[in-house]
Amino acid sequence: MKKQSEQPISTVADLLLHAYTIEREASDRYLLLGDQMSAHNNPVIADLFYRLATIEGRHADEIKSRMQGMAIPERKPWTFQWLTPESPEAADITEAHYLMKPYHALKLALMGEEQAHRFFSAVAEHSRDPELRRLAEEFAGEELSHIEMVEKLLAEHPEPGPDWDYDADPPAVVD
Ligand code: ZN
Repeated sequence: MKKQSEQPISTVADLLLHAYTIEREASDRYLLLGDQMSAHNNPVIADLFYRLATIEGRHADEIKSRMQGMAIPERKPWTFQWLTPESPEAADITEAHYLMKPYHALKLALMGEEQAHRFFSAVAEHSRDPELRRLAEEFAGEELSHIEMVEKLLAEHPEPGPDWDYDADPPAVVD
């Protein structure tokens, strides 16, 4: 079996496959976080995640239509060229806290968007094919606009005080 490093992204079709996977997983993850937040009575954050899920989902659909008619390479999940264990844009769900404030949710989102940006930038930097580089730069640019969007929202939702997770009525723990 070939090692990951022996299968770098070298075609536009392969980059589209990676990009599609990134956006799809990011969207699914945001949806899941949204559901979690609404289950925990945090509708503001839930809406925020649903909005992000819609944006990433739309992006995934766009990429899918670009892949139409192309010979898309087959990759086993473990051969994707991620820089991180999971696909780069999937917000880290282990960080989600049921009392988290918009600030924390946005920080999670920012991390995902920054990782996606780093991923596409790295592909652009390492590719010799001009068309591949152009496309990777385009995707990196889109992630940059997501980063700016999240940063704008972060400016409206500053870091809460240190007792943000104080719960006067915590969920019952059964031992
Ligand atoms: Zn994004």
